[in-house]
Order: sequence, then structure tokens, then C-alpha cells
Amino acid sequence: MKSFIRLIPLTILSLFFLISTTIAANSSKLTDVYTYANYDQVVTTHLYLDLNIDFGSMSLAGFAELSLKWLDTNSTEVVLDTRDLVINKILAQNSAGQWQQVSFNLAEHDDVLGAKLTIKTLPNTDKLRIYYHSTPQASGLQWLSPEQTAGKEKPFLFSQNQAIHARSWIPIQDTPSVRVTYTARIITNKDLLVVMSANNEPNTERDGDYFFSMPQAVPAYLIAIAVGDLHFKAMSHQTGVYAEKYILDAAVAEFDDSQAMIDTAEKMYGKYRWGRYDLLILPPSFPFGGMENPRLSFITPTVIAGDKSLVNLIAHELAHSWSGNLVTNETWRDLWLNEGFTSYVENRIMEAVFGKDRAIMEQALDVQGLTTEIIELAPGDTQLYIDLKGRDPDHAFSSVPYTKGQLFLIYLENKFGRERFDAFVLDYFDHHVFKSIGTTKFLKYLKANLTHKYPNIVSDEVLHEWIYKQGLPRYVPKPISTAFSTIDNETLAWLNDETKFSQLLTSDWTLHEWLYFINNLPLNINIDKMTILDNKFDLTHSKNAEITHAWYLLSIRVGYDAIYPAMFKYLMTIGRRKLIVPLYKELADTKEGKAWALNVYIKARLGYHSLARGTIDAILNK
Ligand SMILES: [Zn+2]
Repeated sequence: MKSFIRLIPLTILSLFFLISTTIAANSSKLTDVYTYANYDQVVTTHLYLDLNIDFGSMSLAGFAELSLKWLDTNSTEVVLDTRDLVINKILAQNSAGQWQQVSFNLAEHDDVLGAKLTIKTLPNTDKLRIYYHSTPQASGLQWLSPEQTAGKEKPFLFSQNQAIHARSWIPIQDTPSVRVTYTARIITNKDLLVVMSANNEPNTERDGDYFFSMPQAVPAYLIAIAVGDLHFKAMSHQTGVYAEKYILDAAVAEFDDSQAMIDTAEKMYGKYRWGRYDLLILPPSFPFGGMENPRLSFITPTVIAGDKSLVNLIAHELAHSWSGNLVTNETWRDLWLNEGFTSYVENRIMEAVFGKDRAIMEQALDVQGLTTEIIELAPGDTQLYIDLKGRDPDHAFSSVPYTKGQLFLIYLENKFGRERFDAFVLDYFDHHVFKSIGTTKFLKYLKANLTHKYPNIVSDEVLHEWIYKQGLPRYVPKPISTAFSTIDNETLAWLNDETKFSQLLTSDWTLHEWLYFINNLPLNINIDKMTILDNKFDLTHSKNAEITHAWYLLSIRVGYDAIYPAMFKYLMTIGRRKLIVPLYKELADTKEGKAWALNVYIKARLGYHSLARGTIDAILNK
């Protein structure tokens, strides 16, 4: 996933939940405390979904059929994760092929984990069929009315399962430690197209009745579905875009380097093992930048800037085809293995396709973000191996697993040289294909295959500091962009009135230079200078959502009020947390700002995803 926004520190309310949920969900033998599943006794190997999508009742209804593999043949129960599901009945099939109704217990709802579903099975149960329906409050689904889409005529639905939201629409072993292949039959309105993280066929007939097959085993958080007035356009033999018509051509033009990115990544990290790679452009309410659903990355439209300046997001989601989707973090405490490796691979793809200067600028901007964020984070949240202490695993997402994780890998690359380090990463992926791995096991692998193989370069203590200690080590790599140094000098001279405004050499600035410039303007900048900048460059109405975000943030801080009408529209149309949450936070710092924010939020809230709502509710004490 891309676009981390740290969730709000514990409110009194969530403190209560924390106390009530600090007990591990499953027995201590199992490493993932965020699942009720008894996956040490039985694992699901295949899932078949037979679901009807009903936009009227905002519900998915039908059954899920789970194929089981028993690890403990004495066990007679299967425990699954659910959240806000209504379970109607459960059938079990024995090895002779006979189906029989079995009893089950759906426990009380827990605010973090959902409701534990315990199923009493028959001897030799091979398959379970769970008849159920989801409810409108499903945390993993967002239902959009036609008015909330660009086309305004047809509704839209999309899922976002990471971290533990799969259970809100599928009764399943919802842990990254268990992988399933899946097939699905999905029925919906005849004029809508359904896509999944599976074998989407570009020429599918639009008839409301769709079949899918995903032959590669994936954890529950990578099962994904979207439904809407979607159309397809190819970018290359292997890549294409699904989107609403209004944005299809723009998306194809923006992302047509996707094939080059795949080819580049394959050269460095081995074969792309998923078949097609398509992009799905979601409505602007999608709360993240992107989600790496296999074969079909889900992408925010806010990165379609018209100049390919934000396509590192595609490199990021594509990179997950190796780190994350192929080699998966075992629990959400190990998230840095997914996101640190992915941020590293993303940047390597960007360097290969767009050049070293751009890759370094992107690194430097991310490091600035990390340095700022790390000051605000609770100390335990600044460790790569994060201590979640029973909090919702959505709290694991900050720039620490991403950028600190990436810096750790850059550090190793610098120490061992690119040739050795690339060979290590390639082998690491190859050794763990379609498997999950935790931090302890990774560290053992790293020592055996890199740091002990080439001894006396990086000590065990240094590795330990990177992974288990708080904050940033003193030897953290510092990416230096000469373009940014030039901007520092020019900006300082202008702010001190040593040079004229016209001497700022903005004409060939890239997005990254603009972001760096805005992010580093001082908070005591006088309003005249803000006005001059805005008059000349119309930053308040920039078409690039990242630039407007940075400009609004600065403007709120320094009291430049001309942005408010445009920022109102921005907050009403965009639901991506990275772009809106910091603005609400900044506004909430003053009484007048908070009153203005509340007024906007009352109007915008319905259009936001539940994950964004939860965060902003807490900021504004709703
Ligand atoms: Zn990611």
C-alpha cells in the first residue's frame, strides 16, 4: 500500500478498546495475534466465492466455500475471522462428498478483531460452505452512489482489505500467514463490470455475471473486488487500465511506462510471476495512493497529474509483485518487510526508468517526511519491528516501515556494493516465493546470506539497531540532491531580499523541486511573498494534487487566507488520506481553523471512506 498516514494517537475511547483487546486472539504458539484462526491446526487452501452484489441493501450475499487442509487431525473445529457479517448456515463436506449442516458459534464483536466464528466440524471435513451476507458497515467495502462517481449514472463498489478488513466481507482465516488460491462467481447489475485481483479478461462480455480465477495463492488481504461503470484500454501486451470513461485516456497516457517498469524490475529481481499487470483507477474517495492487489493494482486518480510526475506510485505498487505479494510479511508487526523492500525496489525502478537525479530527489523528499514524522511518533512506533500492543494493525502504517525500512536496505547496498546486494535480494525473493516470513527469520536469512557471508562489513549489533531500536541510527544514509541544494541557496537569497523574485529559476523545476521548495519555506515568510508566489504560479489552483496539498498546508500555517475557497473544493472531492488528513490536523490547531474544518467535514464526510472518517473523526472530536 502507498500513502501512509499515521493514525491519531489513542483517544480515551480507543484506550478503552486497547485494554479490552490486549489479549492475543489465538493461542501463544501462533505468531499473528490479529486473527482468531487456529491455523496451526487447519489451513484453508482454496476459496470459492459465490456472491450477489446488491447496491440497494449495500450487501454481498451468497456463500464462501473453503477447502481445508488439516495439520492436526485430532482437531474438530475451524475458527474463522468475521466482522459485521450475518451468518445464515454452514455446511460441511466429508471426504465421501456428503454435505451436512454443522453447528457454529459467532462470538461477541471485538472492536479491533471483529467476531470469532467457531465451526464444529465432522471427522474428515474437506470443505465448508458458509452462507452469509455482509452489512453496510463492512469496513473493507466502500459503496458509492451514482452521484458520488464521475459519471453520475451508475454506482461503484470497491474493497480495501489491508490490513484486516477481508473479514468484513468474507468469513476467512484473515492472516498474512495463510495463503489461498481462489475462484469466484459474482452477480451484479447487467450494466456494470466486475474486476478482481484475479484473471480479468479485457474482452469480458458485460452481462452482470462474472467468473474469476486466481491460481496463485495469496493472503486474504490481497483478495480484492471492484464494480462500476468500468472500461478497459490496453497500454501494452501485458498492461492496461480499467477506469470510468472520463479518466481512461488520461490514465493510459500517464501510466504508459508500466511495461518498461515491469521489464526493468524483471531484470533486477526475477520473473514477474502473476501474468497480466493492470491498473484500476478508483474514484477520488479511495483512501490510499494505491493498493497492490495482485494482477490489478488499485490506484487513486490524484496521481494523474498530466506529466508523469507522480508515477512512482505505480513503481511502488508494481514492486509489491515481488515484495509483499510474492514474499509476504508474516504478521502486521513485520510490515516493514513488505513496505521497506517495496520502497527500495520502487526507487530502483524509478532510477532505471527515469534516471538517478529523480530517484535521489524522491528519496530526499521521503527522508524529510520521515524525519518530521518520527519526532511526533510514539517511541515504540519508530522501530522497524513495531510494537503494536494490541492496537488496530492499521496503526502500523507510518513512514517508518516504508522509508526507514528503505534506508536500512540502502545502507546495506552502500556497504556491500550494488552487485552483491542485488544478488542477495534476488535470492531472497526466489527463496521465499509464495511464502510468508517474519522479522526473526529474515534476520537469520540476512546474516547467513549477506552479512556473515561477507564478514566484518556490518556487525550483528548494527543489524539489531536498525531493526529493533527506536529512532534513526547515526549512520543513516542521507540522500543528497544537488538540485535541492541549488534551491536552498536561491530561496534563501530571495527571502533575504538579496535577489529578485524573477531570479528564482523556476522555469525548469520538476514537481519534486516544487515540493521541496514549498515544503522548506519558513513559517515566518511574509504574506506579500506568499501572494507574489501565488499570483505568478497559481499554486492555489495547481492541477497537481501534491503541490496544492503542500501549498495549502503551508498557507494554513502562515495565515495565507486566499486558499480557502479552493481548499474547500479539494476537501470535498478528494478522500485520499495522505492529502486530506494533514490539512484537517493543521486546521484543528486553531479555534477558527477547526470551526472552518468542521463545517467542511460535515458536508464531505459521507463521501469519505470509513478509514478516512475514523481518522478525521478523531482529529475533530466528532
Ligand atoms: Zn506499499
